[in-house]
Amino acid sequence: MSKSVTSAITRKLLRGRLCLDFANTADWHASDQPEERLTSYAEFVSWSRQAGILTEKQAKRLLRQAADHPEEATAVLKWAIALREAIYEIFAAVAHGQAPQATDWTTLNAALSEMLAHSQIAPTENGFGWQWAGDEDALDRPLWSIARSAADLLTSDELQRVGQCADDRGCGWLFLDTSRNHTRRWCDIKDCGNRAKAHRHYERKRVSDLGVLAGQVT
Ligand SMILES: [Zn+2]
Repeated sequence: MSKSVTSAITRKLLRGRLCLDFANTADWHASDQPEERLTSYAEFVSWSRQAGILTEKQAKRLLRQAADHPEEATAVLKWAIALREAIYEIFAAVAHGQAPQATDWTTLNAALSEMLAHSQIAPTENGFGWQWAGDEDALDRPLWSIARSAADLLTSDELQRVGQCADDRGCGWLFLDTSRNHTRRWCDIKDCGNRAKAHRHYERKRVSDLGVLAGQVT
């Protein structure tokens, strides 16, 4: 029995929207030195499996395909990271009320053309729905779902709910703020939220300690 594609790796997914989770596949994204988590084509497949856009069977099939065509897999990984950066830049700009750069639109639209070329409408149990046409062996297959998620979010009312973690050390993760009053500030209250709280506590304590010290001196 072969082990699961994702068994060795546990990824943190905020599960707001697929395109935002994909944008978060670099840590410390808003800092000077982001940490790349898509370090191989296999990692990209593993992430896609965990994000739910590939079945176990599809993931294994792509890994086999990548093993047979390593150069193509490397090129797809490079393209995935370029698309990831464009999606990150677009939604980070939107989160701060700024206009995204033209070059990022160009990258996203190239991915959308590719996605549309593989899309078709087909009957489903309840009517009709989108499905991917053909090529089970296409190494860039997960990117079609990601590009469509980005297009869906950009053209939806939820766009105004996109936010970016307020962590001042450069976490930079993007999220969908589903709080009633749009007050979410952190990617994760238990992570960056706690760190900020601990830091504020430390600062307050330091200031009050200094005050006590100053009081002793005078
Ligand atoms: Zn954060």
